[in-house]
Amino acid sequence: MALPKRRISRARAGYRSIREKLSKTELVACKTCGAKIRPHHLCPACGHYRGKQMLPGNSPAS
Ligand SMILES: [Zn+2]
Repeated sequence: MALPKRRISRARAGYRSIREKLSKTELVACKTCGAKIRPHHLCPACGHYRGKQMLPGNSPAS
């Protein structure tokens, strides 16, 4: 297995981790209710995914 040539210093590892934490997640509008959701994820507001109801008894208000 390939191994890293050098150990990453604690400062460098911390710098990378905070950058990864700060990087914003992409958001798209839900096709059914319009709420901002993560792409390729079930909508937590209305329970739809790709136009289909996936959660029981939680339909959109519109
Ligand atoms: Zn939705």
